[in-house]
Amino acid sequence: MNAAPADQIRLLDVQALDVRLTQLAHRRDKLPEHAEIRSLDAELAQQRDLLVAAQTEESDTAREQTKAEQDVDQVRQRAARDQQRLDSGKVTSPKDLESLQSEITSLARRQDDLETIVLEIMERHEAAQARAKELSAALEGLETKAADAAARRDAALREIDAEADSVRTERAEAATAIPADLLKLYEKLREQQGGVGAAQLYQRRCEGCRLELNITEVNEVRAAAPDAVVRCENCRRILVRTPKSGL
Ligand SMILES: [Zn+2]
Repeated sequence: MNAAPADQIRLLDVQALDVRLTQLAHRRDKLPEHAEIRSLDAELAQQRDLLVAAQTEESDTAREQTKAEQDVDQVRQRAARDQQRLDSGKVTSPKDLESLQSEITSLARRQDDLETIVLEIMERHEAAQARAKELSAALEGLETKAADAAARRDAALREIDAEADSVRTERAEAATAIPADLLKLYEKLREQQGGVGAAQLYQRRCEGCRLELNITEVNEVRAAAPDAVVRCENCRRILVRTPKSGL
C-alpha cells in the first residue's frame, strides 16, 4: 500500500486523538465516584432495612401495649365491680364473702403482673422509637452524601463528555484528510492491536511495540519508497517514518 508521507504523519495525529478518546472512556468508567456511589447505595439499602425493622418493632409494640393496657383495664373493672359488691353489703354469706375477697386479692396480683408487662412493652416501644429516629437521621445523612456523590459524578461525566465530543470532532476532521484505504487498514489494525494501529518509528524503535528494529529491518525501511506504507515486522502495525526515525 502507498500513501503520501504527509498523510502517514497525519495518521499519527488521528492515532493520538484515538488514544485520547480511549483514555477519556477509561476515565469515564473509572471515576472514583462510581465506587463511592456503589458503596453508599449498599449502605443505604442496609440502613433502610434496619429502619424498616425498627419501625415494624415500633408499631408492633404500640399494638402490644394497647392490648396489654386493655387487659389491665378489664382486670381493674372486674376488681372494681367485686369491690362494689363487697361494699354494697348485699353479699352476706361468709363463703361468698370469702370467695369475693379472694378474687379481689388475686385480681390485684394479676393487675400488678399485667402492669409490669405494660411497662416492659413501653420500654421496648420507646427503645424502638428512639432507634427508628436515630436510623432516620443516619439515613438522611447518607442520602445527602449519596446525592452529593451523584452530583459530583454527573459534573465529572459532563466534563469528560464535552471533552470527548471536541476530540471526536477534531478526529473526524483529521481523518477526512487521510486516504480511505490507509484509514481502513489503520482501523483494522487498531482493533486487533489494543487500540493502536499506527506507530511512529522513533530512533529505530517501533513506538507501538517498543521494540528496536534490527539492522536488516532498518535497511529495509531505509530502502522503502517514501510513500510506501511500512509495517513493523514484530507487531504488524503501520510504522510511520518521521525526521526522528533515526534512519
Ligand atoms: Zn511494533
